[in-house]
Amino acid sequence: MVHSGGRPLASLINNNFERLEQVPNSSHRYYWKCRHCGDTDNSSGARIQGHDNNLPNHLIKHCTNAVALLRQAARQFIMEKTGAPTDSNAILTSLAASGSSTIAAIPIKKHKASNLDGYIDRPLSKEQNNLANAKLLRFFIHANIPFHVGDDVFFHEFINVIRPSYHIPSRYVLSRHLLDSEAVRVQQEEINRLKDRKCLTLLLDGWEDLLRRSLYGSLAVEVNHPPVVLALENMTGQRGTAENLVAVSQKAMNHMEVGDGRKFIAVTTDNPTVMQSYHCRNNNTVRNK
Ligand SMILES: [Zn+2]
Repeated sequence: MVHSGGRPLASLINNNFERLEQVPNSSHRYYWKCRHCGDTDNSSGARIQGHDNNLPNHLIKHCTNAVALLRQAARQFIMEKTGAPTDSNAILTSLAASGSSTIAAIPIKKHKASNLDGYIDRPLSKEQNNLANAKLLRFFIHANIPFHVGDDVFFHEFINVIRPSYHIPSRYVLSRHLLDSEAVRVQQEEINRLKDRKCLTLLLDGWEDLLRRSLYGSLAVEVNHPPVVLALENMTGQRGTAENLVAVSQKAMNHMEVGDGRKFIAVTTDNPTVMQSYHCRNNNTVRNK
């Protein structure tokens, strides 16, 4: 998309990034500078190599000057690249349809088909292919299947038996384009859900995983509503001080466009000493705004 593939550059890229010199290899890629934060000191937007979703992801995750609407446009941009179904209702409907009612929905196969339709594989339309890719990714994630299975020869043989015209996305496509697209879709859906909430509680908890990384997860919860994951932060090597926890929770709230904290009425953690200090610091932060 970003490199010169003959296609006109999407306006999201042109409007928000300035093209710099070409990357010194045969990739035909360029370096880009963010028009919003590229000139500020130590900015991550000063020089970004344009490949995959690096540029829109900069606006979503790293740009210090991008406004909420622009971040939303960048998420939309990533979703449109894979043609992922973006309307949450459409997804819920299709999920519901593929759920409990599956057995009833699939017509019983006739043993003797009356025409060739039963034998010949009709190619998938672009929309069907995009939907199949999105469903495959969700299955891989939920079943905890590694993405390299997308390149597995026996998996290819299996797909070849049931639907030869479906091309399984490679590990690269699964782990970059499709995963990016699914991640921003979920994020946008959760942001939309948080918009109507007014009495949220921020839950913050840390734990150590099997690789002995120190992780901090933050959730926004409200009675009678499903919880929303704000962020998961790797804080290995940092101390769980109140100062660090305030920074982590601020970053998490920014990530979900609720950074001003107005929708939160309470914060819960499991360490009373840190909590007291956190309380003082957080009050100061809010007052300073
Ligand atoms: Zn920027």
